[in-house]
Amino acid sequence: MGHSQEKPDPFRVVVVLSGGMDSTTLMAHYAALRSDLIAVTVDYGQRHRREIESAATIARHFDARHLVVDLSGLGRHLGGSALTDSRVDVPDGHYAEDSMRSTVVPNRNAVLANVAVSVGVAERAAIVALGMHAGDHFVYPDCRPAFVSALGELVTVANEGFPTPRVEAPFLTWSKADIATHGTRLGAPLGVSWSCYKGAERHCGTCGTCYERREAFRDAGVADPTDYTDAVTEFAAP
Ligand SMILES: [Zn+2]
Repeated sequence: MGHSQEKPDPFRVVVVLSGGMDSTTLMAHYAALRSDLIAVTVDYGQRHRREIESAATIARHFDARHLVVDLSGLGRHLGGSALTDSRVDVPDGHYAEDSMRSTVVPNRNAVLANVAVSVGVAERAAIVALGMHAGDHFVYPDCRPAFVSALGELVTVANEGFPTPRVEAPFLTWSKADIATHGTRLGAPLGVSWSCYKGAERHCGTCGTCYERREAFRDAGVADPTDYTDAVTEFAAP
């Protein structure tokens, strides 16, 4: 096979960049290790566009190529998730609550990761990097270690004979507070990153992902650069 002699470029990394603080820290993590970053943002029909704008700003910050892949047509067929279906309300409260199940987008990370793997194979990247962390495991099955190891096997089998990137998720066992600490230490532009599921001009401060973001900075003991509409509401611990 013509490609079989080609080796991945050891300096090239494809980073799945949602525009949130985890993937922003992931960009900083690989920028410190490798020189050639390609950021891939998937438009899966998110109800708000705000995080895609943040992703573009973050890619520019790292002088990375930024590919926005339009899968919004898929999102239109995924009714029932608060993140893609405007008829479902975005829940307030902590991620540990049952209500957060409505924020699951079916099979999302498998789709996102495989899009990035396709880019990675075509670009001969050494690594495809994903930003999931231990705090996601409770609600999202496609953020768990079993998912990452199964994906790694799939990528190897699916691209046999081609320069195949390695799938890495360096924050897989970390808490979100660990990510806040790491990102702050690396000088990641966390103030530009976007978490809020409601997608207004400012972070709402009360939806599940805003709460998780606030909690991460607080637990890490580092300054939270985020401008929240409601920075005072507290939730009972689960
Ligand atoms: Zn919010």
